[in-house]
Amino acid sequence: MRLSRKDWFSHIEPLLGMVERPSRYLDHEWGAVEEQDGPFHACLAYADVYEVGQPNLGLSILYNELNAQDGFSCERAYLPWIDMAALMRERNIPLLSLESSSPVASFDLLGITLAHELVCTNVVELLDLAGITLFAEDRDEDEPIVIAGGPSVWNCEPVAPLFDAVLLGDGERAFVAMAHCVRDARAEGLARKDILLRLAQLDGVYVPSLYEIVVDQSSTRWGYAVPKPGTGAPDVVHKHCIADLAETEPVAQRIVPYLGVVQDRFAIEVLRGCARGCRFCQAGMTYRPVRERPAEQIVEAVEEGLSASGFDECSLSSLSTTDHSQCAKMLVALNERLYDQGVRVSIPSQRLDSFGVNMAAAVGASRKAGLTFAPEAGTQRMRNVINKNVTEEDIETAARNAFSNGYRRMKLYFMMGLPTETDEDVVGIPHTAERVVQIGREVCGPRSKVSVSISVAVFVPKSHTPFQWVGQLPLEEVRRRQQLLLDTAPDPAVRISYHGADTSLIEGVLSKMGRKGCELVVRAWKLGCRFDAWTDQFRFDLWNEAATQMGIDLEDVACETFDPNARLPWDHTSPGVSKGYLQREWRRAIDGITTSDCTRESCTGCGVCPALGVSNAIVEERA
Ligand code: SF4
Repeated sequence: MRLSRKDWFSHIEPLLGMVERPSRYLDHEWGAVEEQDGPFHACLAYADVYEVGQPNLGLSILYNELNAQDGFSCERAYLPWIDMAALMRERNIPLLSLESSSPVASFDLLGITLAHELVCTNVVELLDLAGITLFAEDRDEDEPIVIAGGPSVWNCEPVAPLFDAVLLGDGERAFVAMAHCVRDARAEGLARKDILLRLAQLDGVYVPSLYEIVVDQSSTRWGYAVPKPGTGAPDVVHKHCIADLAETEPVAQRIVPYLGVVQDRFAIEVLRGCARGCRFCQAGMTYRPVRERPAEQIVEAVEEGLSASGFDECSLSSLSTTDHSQCAKMLVALNERLYDQGVRVSIPSQRLDSFGVNMAAAVGASRKAGLTFAPEAGTQRMRNVINKNVTEEDIETAARNAFSNGYRRMKLYFMMGLPTETDEDVVGIPHTAERVVQIGREVCGPRSKVSVSISVAVFVPKSHTPFQWVGQLPLEEVRRRQQLLLDTAPDPAVRISYHGADTSLIEGVLSKMGRKGCELVVRAWKLGCRFDAWTDQFRFDLWNEAATQMGIDLEDVACETFDPNARLPWDHTSPGVSKGYLQREWRRAIDGITTSDCTRESCTGCGVCPALGVSNAIVEERA
């Protein structure tokens, strides 16, 4: 049943002295939109604590867009930490929005960001704490329409039954269209099921309840989704795609948090999409094509954003910022304008070539703290398999250039467990790091304090990538290879860290399972799983217990290889990249053949441009 809108802050206030970080629950941050009296109320929720969710650019974009609409108000909600959630349950306080302290269940629309697979149990926790009926099909007429969106919607089946609708792709326009659709349908007095039928007609909107799961010989054991007869839902839902990023509002982040958040800086999205074609990268496939924001617009927006927020750091955010065709121009202009203001400009990770290092030097001329590169694999053979078009020479040149520019520390990101990986590829990871250290000593002197940290993630095969059919590495084999890494790096200047094998396995399970995965998620949550992305909260034993209750084995699920011709659990959703292209890319991976970047060379036929009627939008020719 829908709760009525009223301010519950007086119920939360007495709890603030009893919990960790009470400022997580305080409203009225600088820049937040004051509660509007719009007759239509939406709430955007992030299924993690405030300091993780607050910097999320996607949520900020939608928040601004909807609040700019007449008659609509949009608020935010974050998942309370375990201590606060326990107190709220004890006192029957439901999950509240931040701005007006109204029950989240009292809103017309609730949008939840799916940031990654490990938030699944948090989504259940969020709905439960809000007092919203867990499964969409059981919801009352007047409960909020619950929508998912974000980067992890590309196999959303393990949480699909919890949502009335799922938004695929760019949200700026599509989310606003959904809000209008729900408002109009409610005004017309449409029943919930009719509102969903209407939503399913919108571009980029997937309504899970309109699809049934079929398991047959053409599918994996998790089946595939087909529209229920008579619903008019499309066989395949294509993502919504904005053709021109310059037409969107560049300043998204206007709110200044009270407490330190994970990315405590002003961030601006400088481009969307990446055409480098790394075969393991889901974002690289699902955010295509590439759309750049013009340098001039970025520079003006950075000035406006910094002056409105007071941040002293600005992040130029994207999947590959140094690929921006006006990167140098943009950085020179920013340096000129921000000179004397003590503002630091940062780029998430550097391109592995001289250009990348030069750009890093341009933004951090006085701060030689360290550079971050992502070679991803330790041998040329493996890099060809994953289509990471970086050579040994590129790595060595970038390292030499970085040390010559005064940097002394470097961080390198790798993955292990990639398809076709051998022990030679694994030991190639620390060998690459040692070679970088050696170059550092050659450039800076044998006694210089150069150091290289390597972070090694476990490869998780993701939907809509050329590796979507691959099985994940079994736990024991992950641990053996992790030990091999440690045994191969005797140089104390090389520091190794790696991701937990157990959490990666759950990520793999949730990336592979179809709708049946929802039973696993809900069982795991009932047993006590939540905040699974937090190492100290992750309970692999409980996930195993949930799987045992269902008669499945987690390792079997994650490590299963799918037939490349099988109908997959996510085939009814499409980012525009065709399955034929993914199959071709898989074959080329096995043969170690690389594929070029279509923003620098010709189209490689991924299919997104013709499918969605868009194209790469590059401001100038790329370097
Ligand atoms: S269709 Fe061609 S040009 Fe467009 S993103 Fe795909 S490969 Fe690039």
